[in-house]
Parts: sequence; C-alpha cells; structure tokens
Amino acid sequence: MPSSLPEILDQLNADMRADDNWGAVASYIPELGSIDPAQFAIAVATADGDLYSAGDADTLFSVQSITKVFTLAIALGRAGDHLWKRVGREPSGRAFNSIVQLEAEAGRPRNPFINAGAIVVTDEILTGRAPRETLGEIMQFVRTAAGDDDIHINENVAASENAHGHRNYALAHFLASAGNLNNPPDQTLGTYFHHCAIEMTAKQLAMSGRFLIDSPNAPRMILPARIRRLNALMLTCGHYDGSGDFAYRVGLPAKSGVGGGILAIVPKVASIAVWSPGLNRYGNSRKGTEAMARLARVMEWSVF
Ligand code: GLU
Repeated sequence: MPSSLPEILDQLNADMRADDNWGAVASYIPELGSIDPAQFAIAVATADGDLYSAGDADTLFSVQSITKVFTLAIALGRAGDHLWKRVGREPSGRAFNSIVQLEAEAGRPRNPFINAGAIVVTDEILTGRAPRETLGEIMQFVRTAAGDDDIHINENVAASENAHGHRNYALAHFLASAGNLNNPPDQTLGTYFHHCAIEMTAKQLAMSGRFLIDSPNAPRMILPARIRRLNALMLTCGHYDGSGDFAYRVGLPAKSGVGGGILAIVPKVASIAVWSPGLNRYGNSRKGTEAMARLARVMEWSVF
C-alpha cells in the first residue's frame, strides 16, 4: 500500500491504465468525438498551493460543464439570491440536456448545472454587457483562480458545438418563450458555448478549484458562506442524473464535464482534478469517477 500522496497518485494512474474499458467519448460535439479515450490524468492542489499529479496531467482538454462552477460564482456575485428566481436548486434526476422538465416546470430550470440552468446563469452574467466583455470576465476569473494566465478558449470546439447545438438552441428558445432569457438566444448561447470550450490541463484545473477549498491560504474570490453553498450544489447536482451515485461512491462535492474532466473539492484540504475522456452512461468520466472513488477511500477524504 503506497503511503505518500505522490505514490498514491502514481499507483492510481497505473491501475487505471491496467484496465482497457475506457468508456466512449462524447460525440455530439464533433470536435470532441475524435479524442483518444485511452488517456488519464489526476492532479491534487492543496490549500497551500502544493501540486501533485500523475498521468497525462499536462495535456489540455475541454473543460465543458466544469466551467459552470465559475459562471455560477460570478452570477451569484452579481445577482445574489435574485438568481434563484430564475433557476432552482434541486437535483434534476434527468440527463444534462433534458428538455421535458423545463416545459413541465414553466421554464425555470431545476438547477444551475444542467444545461438549461447554466444557460440562464450565462444569460444573467451577459445582461448589460457584450459577449466579448462577459467572456473576458469569465476568463479573468478562471485565470485568477488558477493563478495562471495561460488558459484559453478553443475556438474550434466552440464553433463545433454551435454548429451542432440544436438541443441547446431548443432549450434557449424555450427559456425565451417562458420569459426567462434577457438576451437574444444566439448571444447567450454563443457566450455559453465559448466558456464551455475553455481548455485546461488537469494541473491547471486542480489549481483553479482552490478558491472553493475554503481555507485562509487558498485564493479568496467569493464569500465563505457562498463557497459552502456552491459545494452543496456540486454535491447534489454536479453529476446530472449520476449525482446520487457519485455522492455515494466518492462523498465529495464535484462537477463533471462531457470532455471527461471532474473537479472535486475536499473542504479545507484540497482541490482534485481528474481527466479521462471516455464517459459512463450518465455522461461523466468513467475512469475519472473510479479514480476519485479510490483516492477518496485511500485518503479518507469525505464530507460525511
Ligand atoms: N457544452 C456542453 C453542452 O452544452 C456541456 C455539457 C457537459 O459538459 O456536460 O452540451
């Protein structure tokens, strides 16, 4: 049994590569469909800023829905509790891009992490600003959180998603028809697709999550009470209709993305990023979820 964190990460990396059931990459965004699923990275950033990693931890990947944590932090800073008039705080029990619930609930998305809810959050940040300015604000937030200016948007991924984003267009137009969109759907979605197309390495992603650790040594970007609320939403809603299973297996607040990344927070202790692009049936990283479960178990990291 390895004892130090670097040894544990090396062992996890070796274990993940030993099994060739990688899952399938997301293909509904064509630019992501060509990625080799047989890749794995893990990185742990401590509250003090020490960084440990193993595997493909310097490879850039599409962060996708993990960016919804940053946009929610910005939107709450801007709108405060008024945001909750537009979007709920309950797990959806539905796929990330489901449309049926939105109609049944009169255009108020269940939570800010399903696509409909994240589109509303982006719309809130965009209100009163141009898309370019809004994206600049989001990039600045992410770069400050990570302490790294070398974080960028992959324009090809954003364009690819825009060209094939019929489902998200349907959600945005439905929101508009229900009076829950302030900006034209194409502007809100253009901004949404671009922030989803931010690329990071596992090391950068782990560093970018330090503002959620809630430690005096980590970057202080939002109020402590809000950090705890964001973590609560990540725990209950961060993995779509796999959120309960992830909470059961891992026991940490976390947010997944269809690029195969997961960001998890150990309150007061660390921020963890894993990446493996093959997904499970819920659209969450298959090996990433497995690695998180094992790391949490070995380190005895849990919020419970
Ligand atoms: N940009 C993706 C979409 O809207 C994000 C989904 C995800 O990462 O879960 O479909």
